[in-house]
Amino acid sequence: MNFDLTEEQQQLRTLVREFAEKEVAPGAAERDQSEAFPIEIVKKMGALGLFGLPVPQEYGGLGADAVTWALVMEELGRVDSSVAVTLSVASGLAGGMVTRFGTPAQKERWLPHIATGGMLAGFALTEPSGGSDIKALRTTARLADGTWTIDGSKSFITNSGTPITGFLVVACRTDEPPHDVSTIIVPADADGLVIGSEYRKMGWRSTDTHEVVFQGCRVPDDHLLGERGRGLRQCLGSLDDGRIAIAAISVGLAQACLDASLMYARDRDAFGRPIGAYEAIAFKLADMRVAIESARLLTWNAAWLKDEGRDYGAAAATAKLRASDVANVCAREAVQIHGGYGYTEEFPVSRYYRDAKVLEIGEGTSEILRLVLSRDLGLEPTT
Ligand SMILES: Cc1cc2nc3c(=O)[nH]c(=O)nc-3n(C[C@H](O)[C@H](O)[C@H](O)COP(=O)(O)OP(=O)(O)OC[C@H]3O[C@@H](n4cnc5c(N)ncnc54)[C@H](O)[C@@H]3O)c2cc1C
Repeated sequence: MNFDLTEEQQQLRTLVREFAEKEVAPGAAERDQSEAFPIEIVKKMGALGLFGLPVPQEYGGLGADAVTWALVMEELGRVDSSVAVTLSVASGLAGGMVTRFGTPAQKERWLPHIATGGMLAGFALTEPSGGSDIKALRTTARLADGTWTIDGSKSFITNSGTPITGFLVVACRTDEPPHDVSTIIVPADADGLVIGSEYRKMGWRSTDTHEVVFQGCRVPDDHLLGERGRGLRQCLGSLDDGRIAIAAISVGLAQACLDASLMYARDRDAFGRPIGAYEAIAFKLADMRVAIESARLLTWNAAWLKDEGRDYGAAAATAKLRASDVANVCAREAVQIHGGYGYTEEFPVSRYYRDAKVLEIGEGTSEILRLVLSRDLGLEPTT
């Protein structure tokens, strides 16, 4: 086994770490408080080429591998998970759907804009009636006279209402039997697409998240993505990619918790000694280190399997399940190590604590991941 990163991967990681520390970290607390969408940072990430990483070279991207993408997600997740997830949803999830299933014309139309960061995109799967049971989705698409008419609504759609959102990939049920699910590219300016008000969230506060309503929303028939009726399979495949990204963001957030806690444990005195000199605190830090290292290895393993062209669905679910748990445990311990100050906004660990929770919810809740993994073991637990 060779765990060494390539020279390019190491260089990119250094570049993104410097960018994250210099450009992203300074305003993270303020954006969290004001819930401001980080449009200036999106532009800078675009200029740096980060949006183009997963986009194929012939469409203006860099066609980077999955391990590289995971490294970038970790570095951004270490300073501001809102920024990381904005990138991941646009280029990884929505852009990834077009890359995998789009026609040459669809790729030509959308991917070059995604690659520059000049356009963002969203992935619209979850509905008000439920996100875990995606087979039960209710949004319908009816094809007549060369036009799809879409009716229904979606919940919690990241990147749906930014000033530069260009399109949403929407999962819909076609109205004719067998009522299979298909995915359709809906441009942001499509007739009948209504972007609802923004959610007020506990964490990821500077991400853009809206309810989206389709009121007789009309798009041309060539906006169907991939084969009609294959939408569920397409979405599940893309969620595997998204799970690696969320796992990497979780590792980054957990690492930030360890870094902040280590610094605090050295500086803060109690009973005449730095708190890090007490075993109760030192062992928390040691446990955080072990947890982070194991989550990082699982994440790299899933990404590597993808790069090798092997099955990676179960590995991605394993990495996301473990890493999101590690992020939450580390955030909880980081607040504990900071004592009362950890509960204030004076230190970033309170933001990490709030940002960590959604990592166990988005792109497959921890319960659903356990379901996926037990099915992979050949079991059929009652759902
Ligand atoms: C900030 C944010 C951003 C998001 N961005 C997007 C996005 O861009 N696109 C998108 O499509 N979605 C997005 N989501 C939605 C997210 O993917 C869903 O919230 C998630 O899949 C869970 O769906 P739900 O909220 O409807 O919960 P439900 O499906 O109603 O589940 C509620 C609870 O029941 C549990 N549960 C459900 N079924 C079972 C079962 N069979 N066995 C055991 N437990 C079960 C769940 O694990 C959960 O704990 C986002 C959510 C958030 C909070």
